[in-house]
Amino acid sequence: MKILIVEDEFTSRKLLQIHLAEYGQCFTAGNGQEAIEAIEQSLLEDSPYDLVCMDIMMPHVDGLEAVRKIREIEAEKGFSGLSGVKIMMTTAKGFSEDIFEAFRAGCEGYLIKPIHKQELIDELEKLGFAAPAKASS
Ligand SMILES: [Mg+2]
Repeated sequence: MKILIVEDEFTSRKLLQIHLAEYGQCFTAGNGQEAIEAIEQSLLEDSPYDLVCMDIMMPHVDGLEAVRKIREIEAEKGFSGLSGVKIMMTTAKGFSEDIFEAFRAGCEGYLIKPIHKQELIDELEKLGFAAPAKASS
């Protein structure tokens, strides 16, 4: 499983990397623009990501804008709906309008910071990613 962690804060990025290491290979991007470039490159290389964990508040291009752009790029390349990458927002923004806007932009999961490992595991399971211990049994 190939994972892209998009997060501008070092500590949050590191925490997600530690939690997600058992799930697969983690790559990181520091803002939305880098995330868009990483997704474009992965599609060009025919090696798409399975999961993107996307912060919302980031410099240059924020998480919502990045999600919209990623869905646009996927649509141009003929990926849509279930064939696109699974995107889970990982953000401190927790108002219902934030969550609604993120799902409208094209995410499938939403986790409010601070991130707790069990909540992350549960949310990933909802997206169809079994916990590593279960996956190997
Ligand atoms: Mg941030």
